[in-house]
Amino acid sequence: MKFITYKNKNKHTKHLGVLLETGIISLEKIGIMYNDMNELIEKISSEEMKKISSISKDTALIPLENINILSPIPCPKQDIICLGINYHAHAIEAERYKEEAFGGERRLPIYFSKRVSNTVSPGEYIDGHFDIVDSLDYECELAIVIKKDAKNVSEEKAFEYIFGYTIINDISARNLQTQHKQWYFGKSLDDFTPIGPCIATVDEFVNPPKLKIMSKVNDELRQNSTTDLLIFDIPYIISDLTKGMTLKSGTIIATGTPSGVGMGFIPPKFLKSGDTVECEIEGIGILKNTVK
Ligand code: MG
Repeated sequence: MKFITYKNKNKHTKHLGVLLETGIISLEKIGIMYNDMNELIEKISSEEMKKISSISKDTALIPLENINILSPIPCPKQDIICLGINYHAHAIEAERYKEEAFGGERRLPIYFSKRVSNTVSPGEYIDGHFDIVDSLDYECELAIVIKKDAKNVSEEKAFEYIFGYTIINDISARNLQTQHKQWYFGKSLDDFTPIGPCIATVDEFVNPPKLKIMSKVNDELRQNSTTDLLIFDIPYIISDLTKGMTLKSGTIIATGTPSGVGMGFIPPKFLKSGDTVECEIEGIGILKNTVK
């Protein structure tokens, strides 16, 4: 099931829905009422999920042309937890770009956080902050959305704590990221977290999900990999983080990006004003944004 946040064209009120091939089901129209996606993630019951599945696709659909799909989680409850350098090929390209910032042996994951007050919706502009950024980059990533509070979770039980998956473009200012000891500032400027188009529930995939992950800039294929190539996989990440930390319902974890980001090219291909970035993950959809 693909959950979305949307608004009707020319209206401002946000609604929750389920995305189908030919349109969407409005959850409030079938009596499933939550204030926002964070509340839905925490409270939706298996009975409500069954009710949604039983809705006739012919009767309850709103055509896609009548709505705008927004970020599924416009305001995350907390900053996003991110993994750095979690695909081998990306580790090689990052070290080649700047060895002192990205090189060296790593036996354990790199965790960092990304400040996000408001996520960016599919189709919205990304502010490149070109007054302080000279090396704007994209990173297409599979993101995990946690269903219920998780503490001391074993790898075997990790998937029981996942609500679903979405796509994050972990927009990064390489100059700010590498000139500070920590990556936080360079990852956290306003508009640096496009998310969407939906949250596809965990039951839609095999565990762990092996999905094609791609990005394009102005229709040129840049990243092209599969999510089974994660160095630290999803069960490991959830088990490792919950050893000493509670992951609350609604927590978003970005699992890292494959090779083919702008800094990986010689010379680098950084984003400029007017560029359009498409991030695509099989079974979730396409997240497309243009740089302002
Ligand atoms: Mg990243």
